[in-house]
Amino acid sequence: MTERLMAALFLAFATLAQAAPQHSPWPGGVAIVAIDGESRPEVRVGDRPALVVREADGWQAIVGIPLEHAPASPFEITISRVGHPEESRTVKLQAADYRVQRLNVDHKYVDPGEEALERIFLERDIIDAALANWRQQRIEDVSLAAPVAGSRSSSFGSRRIFNDQPRSPHKGMDIAAATGTPIASPMPGLVSTTGDFYFNGNTVIVDHGQGLITLFCHLSEIDVAEGQAVAAGELLGKVGATGRVTGPHLHFATYLNGTAVDPALLLAP
Ligand code: ZN
Repeated sequence: MTERLMAALFLAFATLAQAAPQHSPWPGGVAIVAIDGESRPEVRVGDRPALVVREADGWQAIVGIPLEHAPASPFEITISRVGHPEESRTVKLQAADYRVQRLNVDHKYVDPGEEALERIFLERDIIDAALANWRQQRIEDVSLAAPVAGSRSSSFGSRRIFNDQPRSPHKGMDIAAATGTPIASPMPGLVSTTGDFYFNGNTVIVDHGQGLITLFCHLSEIDVAEGQAVAAGELLGKVGATGRVTGPHLHFATYLNGTAVDPALLLAP
């Protein structure tokens, strides 16, 4: 092998190593679990399958840890391999330090009427199903490109208080950008769901396969249709201020095995 070829190979591996998410063992984080063996293992968290990628010397499971998971209780995954008994592994967690965030929004987003509540429950089922979907798909590595340029909030996981009333924690990253800014798909995938939802406003959900799903909310415009295949970098829609917002921005959320994980952990630097 020539020196130049070796240098190029090294560079390629260095780039790959950099792109992969790091082991981040806390609620809302990502557990990276190395698994050896020739044949592809099946990894589960409870009854949900988890994402597995090929490594040079085996396999790697990239598992989302639920934000609600108490850090003191063990986080367990199950590994099934051909020719091995089923194995369970425990990931030791540490506590995450998420802040409290106070926001003021239109009254209808804090105290929706009965009619709105009915709509909200219906929409929640559609959204939850899309975020927990499993689609078999070979994935080389998990590294997302930023969907829009702009300053990224670190408010994932923050406990939120809207108009003095506690609500569920923030399960995404807010990226500041002007209305009309184009949003690019961070990885190839299939558009599984689009819609105008009560809290999320105009929304696009992209299924990248193996439970890796991205969610884009508050759009001014949707530029894709359900069932459409999108390439990395392809236009999904435009930044806006629809739904429960305090101003124009992109709410960008990432899901693994049906659970929201901090997008900062999956985004390429
Ligand atoms: Zn948000």
